[in-house]
Amino acid sequence: MLQSKEGIVLISMHFIRITAHLLSQILLLFAVVSLHVNVIAQENGPDIIKPGSFLYAGKQPRSWPSPSGHFEFGFYPQGNGYAAGIWLVGRPENTTVWTANRDDPPVSANSTLEFTTQGTLLLRTENGTEKIIASYSTSRSVDSASMLDTGNFVLYRKRSVVWESFDFPTDTILGGQNLSGDQNGLISSVSSSNHASGQFLLSMQLDGNLVAYVNNSVELDPGESYWATGTGFGYSFSHVLNLNTRGVLLLTRYSDSDGDVVLVLANGSTTGNETKIIYRASLDPDGIFRLYKHQVENNTISNIWQNLDYVCDVSGHCGLNSYCSSKGNDFGCYCYPGFTNTKSLDCSQNFTVDGCEARKDVVILYNITTLENMTWAGNPYSVKHNLEQEECKKACVEDCSCDAVLYSSTKCSLFRLPLKYGRRHENITTTAFIKVIVGSTNTSITSPSSEISPILIKEGNRSLILTMGLSLGSIASLSFVMALCSFLLYRHRVKSYEKLSENASPILNEQFTLRSFTFNELDEATHGFDDQLGRGSFGAVYKGILPGDGKSIAVKRLTRINEGETDKIRTEMTVIGRTNHRNLVRLLGFCVEGSRKLLVYEYLSNGSLADFLFKKNERPVWKERARIALDVAKGILYLHEECETCIIHCNLKAHNILLDDSFTAKISDFGLAKLLRPNQTSSSTGTTGTEWYSAPERQSSASVSEKVDVYSFGVILLEIVCCRSNIEVQVCSADEILLSIWVYNCFVGGELNKLVEDEEVDMRMVERFVKVGLWCIQDDPTLRPLMKNVTLMLEGTMNVPTPPSPSLPHVTS
Ligand code: ATP
Repeated sequence: MLQSKEGIVLISMHFIRITAHLLSQILLLFAVVSLHVNVIAQENGPDIIKPGSFLYAGKQPRSWPSPSGHFEFGFYPQGNGYAAGIWLVGRPENTTVWTANRDDPPVSANSTLEFTTQGTLLLRTENGTEKIIASYSTSRSVDSASMLDTGNFVLYRKRSVVWESFDFPTDTILGGQNLSGDQNGLISSVSSSNHASGQFLLSMQLDGNLVAYVNNSVELDPGESYWATGTGFGYSFSHVLNLNTRGVLLLTRYSDSDGDVVLVLANGSTTGNETKIIYRASLDPDGIFRLYKHQVENNTISNIWQNLDYVCDVSGHCGLNSYCSSKGNDFGCYCYPGFTNTKSLDCSQNFTVDGCEARKDVVILYNITTLENMTWAGNPYSVKHNLEQEECKKACVEDCSCDAVLYSSTKCSLFRLPLKYGRRHENITTTAFIKVIVGSTNTSITSPSSEISPILIKEGNRSLILTMGLSLGSIASLSFVMALCSFLLYRHRVKSYEKLSENASPILNEQFTLRSFTFNELDEATHGFDDQLGRGSFGAVYKGILPGDGKSIAVKRLTRINEGETDKIRTEMTVIGRTNHRNLVRLLGFCVEGSRKLLVYEYLSNGSLADFLFKKNERPVWKERARIALDVAKGILYLHEECETCIIHCNLKAHNILLDDSFTAKISDFGLAKLLRPNQTSSSTGTTGTEWYSAPERQSSASVSEKVDVYSFGVILLEIVCCRSNIEVQVCSADEILLSIWVYNCFVGGELNKLVEDEEVDMRMVERFVKVGLWCIQDDPTLRPLMKNVTLMLEGTMNVPTPPSPSLPHVTS
């Protein structure tokens, strides 16, 4: 019985356990089911977009809203059609904050946007063209998408964000969004209604400097920048511009995961009890970077910070030879006196004199017009110090290369045309003097401040010559008196300078003069010449460290130069030592002791352009290459036209262009051509294919002009575009062996894309570079452009006509 009772108890306990277990299973199941239903409900909610969803440009649904409804993703009207993007909903107007494929033409009302079952966002136009707007990976599909309340459109895979519009900013960052050094930067829109790429670029540079540029052909050219935070402290950190959700716009640098705030640009946060606020920082179509506050409840927008006060502080609104003058947000472009407006925004003189130094048959009369509170961009070709205003004007009148001057507290900077990015404002303290050619013909100039007509007076015109002779005579006697005074003043200054220089610091001296080294000093600096960097046509190059300041140097031992020409070497060294340009390798000093002749250069850590272009597994990015091409052009322009004595390099090639630690290109070996033995004017190392850089006339004629360098530059430019050497044997077909032939064939065949493979490039810029390169390598030197025009064409400031065939290249024997 007991057993049976116990048995009953056991059975009932077992039953209770089973029931309890079943109950808990049912409860669990119920919980799981209800949770699942919850998730599905959430996943199917208005904010979750499932594969297979569609948007239509011409009918509903046209957009996917964020949960709060403040942002929408979809089609919005643009031009005569529609564009796809994200906007901040507002009354009466929405604010577009992101546009997909912004440079594509607007699409028609029959276009659709599909979130495909493969998880890509696909734009399909009326004629069936398909463009992917967002995707993750072809092998791993995306399972949902969402328009978030932050203004970020995201794709999810297994609940993780795998793509987000915040990673591809166009002209705007929103609260919570970053702009980092490895992104392209913000590019302004053409206008508030056209969101295609406009004229300006704000770049978060890898060195930490946030810089605003004119977004023309060659980005990141410092000459084109008009605003910067000046925080370019180095590459050892990664830098981010961040707008946080409280409206603070700040620059932060990160090492590993730690971030330090480098600069707070703006603090838009408010302590009041304002309701929903959305912050937005945009590089506006006028080039000014502004921080805006949108108060969504009462639909107001306020501009709470901007990087520049005046529209004219932004370069690039006006054309060449004109200046910008602004009042508030209004501005106008005005030609300089003596200039008239041409078809485009540019202004030009009705009259120019080419090669004024060479035109001995021509006497030109000038007038100088003064413009107060004026400035413009670019480097002067000459700067004179300690001059009075009148002396400065005179310096320009007497120098026929001078077209205009900027004068500020005794500093007189001389410029040639064209004048770029001129602006006039009462806050500017520099004064401009513009040189206007004057005379008495009837041709009228429509400049408001100058009613002067230009005339070129030829020798046959006797009466005019007589009048001018008399005036010039009096000018000459006046000049004589002034010259005498200047001479006395000069002697006085030299004396005081001598006194000063006796006490001057050796470091200061070092920057301006060449140092003469003893052989023992260089032997010590190079540890007995044990670290050879390479060998060229002059001899070997060694790495060393200067004792004292620890500066790295490259010491070139000249073994293959003409013997016994010590004086000539010293003369050439003086010429080289006087050069100073950011795109030239700096010569620091030399050593001439009997047969030992050595040159000491600054050391450049990133090797030669040849290594950079030809030895890497991956092609260096196009923007970097384009910038380097412009660097090289500017270096040659300086050698030809801007330094005291014109220097023809004669041995330009990718191996002679070196890259410093920030990859700035610098030309080396300039000024050495005259020192080589006659048969060595181009490298005889035999490894660099130098003969292909050499202009055809160099074989037939002993006379050498700047145009030989233009030819070599053309070859280098094509190498930079194509990332390959001028001659290559391992190619698919025979007509690809010589770069010039291949490039020309691709150009006439409309196949320039072959030259840049699958790179992301601006094809218009590639075409322009190719056309310039083909002009430079013309067999006929007179057809090759001067380096000044080469630079203007590369920058996109001058049109490039279609080049003829450069004709077959030649081979030196
Ligand atoms: P060529 O003499 O025909 O112009 P090259 O340019 O190759 O030929 P060098 O200028 O003598 O010859 O240079 C030899 C090597 O030394 C090259 O690999 C070059 O990169 C390196 N070199 C030369 N100057 C410097 C420098 N200032 N800093 C760092 N490396 C240098």
